Amino acid sequence: MTPWHQKSVKTILAQVRSSVAGLSKKEAAKRLLADGPNALKELPPVRPWQLLVGQFKNVIIWILIAASVISGALGELVDAITILLIVLLNAAIGFYQELSAAQSIAALLKLTAPQARVRREGHVTEVPATEIVVGDVLLLEAGDLVAADARLLKTASLKVIESALTGESVAVPKQPEILQQEDVPLAERENIVFQGTSVAAGTGQAVVVATEMQTELGHIAELLEETEINKDTPLQQKLDAFGRILIWAALGIVALLFVLGLLRGTKILELTLTSVSLAVAAVPEGLPTVVTVALSLGVLRMSRRNALVRKLAAVETLGSVSVICTDKTGTLTRGEMTVRELFVAGQRYEVTGGGYSPEGEIQLAGKRAQDSHTAPLLTLATNLLGCNSAHLSEEAGLWKTIGDPTEGALLVAGTKAGGNREALEKEQPKYRELPFDANRKRSAVIRTQADGSFRALVNGAPGQLLQRCTQLYTATGIVPLNDDMRDSLLEQVAVMAQAALRVLGSAYRDLASDTPESQLTPDGIERELVFVGLTGMVDPPRPEAKDAIARCHAAGIRVVMITGDNAHTANAIAQELGIATKSTAALTGTELDALTEEQLQQRTPTIAVYARVTAAHKLRIIHALRASGAIVAMTGDGVNDAPAIKHADIGIAMGKTGTEVTKQAADMIITDDNFATIVAAVEEGRGIYDNIRKTLEYLLAGNAGELLLMTACVIVGLPSPLLPIHLLWINLVTDGLPALCLAIDPIDSDVMKRPPRHPFEKIIDRSFLRTMLLNGFLTAGVTFTEYLYILRTETPEVARTHAFTVLVFAELLRSFGARRESKPLWEIPFFSNRNLVLVVTLSLGLQLWSQHNDFLSRFLKTESVSFLDSFFLLLIATIPLVILEVVKVIRSAK
Ligand code: ADP
Ligand code: MG
Repeated sequence: MTPWHQKSVKTILAQVRSSVAGLSKKEAAKRLLADGPNALKELPPVRPWQLLVGQFKNVIIWILIAASVISGALGELVDAITILLIVLLNAAIGFYQELSAAQSIAALLKLTAPQARVRREGHVTEVPATEIVVGDVLLLEAGDLVAADARLLKTASLKVIESALTGESVAVPKQPEILQQEDVPLAERENIVFQGTSVAAGTGQAVVVATEMQTELGHIAELLEETEINKDTPLQQKLDAFGRILIWAALGIVALLFVLGLLRGTKILELTLTSVSLAVAAVPEGLPTVVTVALSLGVLRMSRRNALVRKLAAVETLGSVSVICTDKTGTLTRGEMTVRELFVAGQRYEVTGGGYSPEGEIQLAGKRAQDSHTAPLLTLATNLLGCNSAHLSEEAGLWKTIGDPTEGALLVAGTKAGGNREALEKEQPKYRELPFDANRKRSAVIRTQADGSFRALVNGAPGQLLQRCTQLYTATGIVPLNDDMRDSLLEQVAVMAQAALRVLGSAYRDLASDTPESQLTPDGIERELVFVGLTGMVDPPRPEAKDAIARCHAAGIRVVMITGDNAHTANAIAQELGIATKSTAALTGTELDALTEEQLQQRTPTIAVYARVTAAHKLRIIHALRASGAIVAMTGDGVNDAPAIKHADIGIAMGKTGTEVTKQAADMIITDDNFATIVAAVEEGRGIYDNIRKTLEYLLAGNAGELLLMTACVIVGLPSPLLPIHLLWINLVTDGLPALCLAIDPIDSDVMKRPPRHPFEKIIDRSFLRTMLLNGFLTAGVTFTEYLYILRTETPEVARTHAFTVLVFAELLRSFGARRESKPLWEIPFFSNRNLVLVVTLSLGLQLWSQHNDFLSRFLKTESVSFLDSFFLLLIATIPLVILEVVKVIRSAK
């Protein structure tokens, strides 16, 4: 078979039964069904039965089932059934929780999966990359991931990075011409683009020849990275390890008690059942579930606030972020530009009107200027309209930009200044486009003039543009540009920028009709230009940004602005938003280049604004910040931002303006490009961590209490205060359900009022252990006292009922205090966690009911307790809660 690169476009299109207009939607759907999705590795689907089976992989469950069988064999039928029921109920709850967690993660994965642009039925549509089929026509541009292997039909300065396939990190040029040789190595197949590679520059169209495992990347698919959202996070791993230690510790203690019981002559059967249930009570088998639930429901909550997490581990890191590096345009600002000033031929004009509506005029000293300054204004307008690929659209009087907002604003200004885009397109058709790129900070369009010669129109950052100009357009003709003129123009730029205007320069160059193709590149044409003028636009800050920044500062998080824009503009906006003060200066890319790593590292803590930087600078800034110990979140949108995003602790991609490459490199995607969303995500991250910690504390304290109580009684030689059935009940009702409610506790308003958590901080630290043990001792203490007290005058059954009730009450009540580590109960909005209130109320009710309902009391082996006694039990059960709250107050007063 002839390889793809050796075939003509026509042959290939025929072979894959497609055309330049693409497949029909019906045909694409048919092929997708026939060939399967275009995915190298199928994401593991959520298989409910596997989760269900997983519930029974727990040793504890089997110990319990054995206990149930033993009880049954000995004729204790009620016990046997109860234990079995509890086991099943426990498994059902665990199953349900894990299923919903897995489903929310799967839904999230779909949201963040790569997309591709294809032409179908002649229309461009965006589809998930997994739905690409052989014969689809792919449209490629800078920042895209190539979704399948495809033969190029058309290219414009297309360059692709193929490191995923060939290891070569330098972008290679691509072109559609047929190759003659048969044995061309992958790296030299210039007319094919491969799946998994990314577009570095230019544009192209290609017809898909292979998908999924048939692609070149498919052949080496084992080397691919796994999706990371399914991986356990560091915290989960640590807790798993910790849980295993606890299991052994608990089993050890249980074995000890067993031996002790034997020595005291307790019946083996009773002892076995007690030990088994004690083991169940002591082992925090709900721990992994609770952590998973807290993480995945937290992630779901974040997605509702427009932050899509791509790596679960990011949730933990978010809570310790200490520096947020953010873009300016569109993130801190609205990204809705309006040109306010024009400067051409030595004259500064004002532009009236607002938004993207083309209504408005150019004024000089408050008077309409189009009619008297027609020539210079039209020259500038030609640049603004001609070097532009945006479009305006109107809907019910509301004007919008399709494309780059900066270019949309230029379009509006050019129209107001008297330009006419349609006429321009007709008279000087577009010959070539050299689109804006963030490193060059310019865009250019080459147009064909009436006489066949070319004119290149260039817009871009004025400083760099002026460097490339040798002439100046004036009212009286074109003159050579000298240094004085350049300086005065730069002075003009600074004046406009200090007024927070985003300033663009415009220039052009005439080229002979026989200019060789090889010259029509950015470097080839963007020199010896004629400078025309300046355009200053406002991009108002987002109203919520200022507040979000203040919240960051309160939370001990520094906000750093990193922008490609002019230093003055950046500083003006940074001051307005409270990022910078009057005395702080911005560091520009050029200044940054002059610094060594050490110098940069020393200065980063005091720099709030980096201006005129490129992607490479971003990487240096990240390294410097991280070297100084900061945990850095960094935003990015362009292709070039991918490395910086990868190196940041939290890489954040823009959902709207971000490229596919950036999104796939990111830990998190913010769908509204809004700075406030990042802050919301940090808040959620902190809240999730808090929730995990409080749930752990609650669960472990409960276990400790039960263990201490039982141990004390065995040592003193009292009859067991809790029957196996009680321990199982406590494990399920008293611990399990409230713990789940704590895991999804609404976030405290205070989480953003304390400094970020230290990244090395352990989740189980000293203060955790202190609270947990105090908690356990207090619960065990009051229960033991009550038990002893009743045992003096009543039967063990009655005393047991009392002990059981006090313990359950105490643990249930304690859950309210567990919601906050240092805030006393009366400062926590009681009903903000409705689930918890509901669960605790129901459990309390059930407990009381079980003492009076024959059926339940048979299962739970409880004696009836008078109403007055129940009230009294409730009262003493509040003692641990009250003491713990007092301790909180004393501790926070210190
Ligand atoms: P940021 O997003 O950090 O504000 P950009 O990288 O978008 O910065 O832009 C940097 C500079 O490039 C701008 O200040 C402007 O001078 C210039 N620029 C931005 N967009 C365009 C464009 N579409 N065409 C020409 N020049 C542009
Ligand atoms: Mg930008």
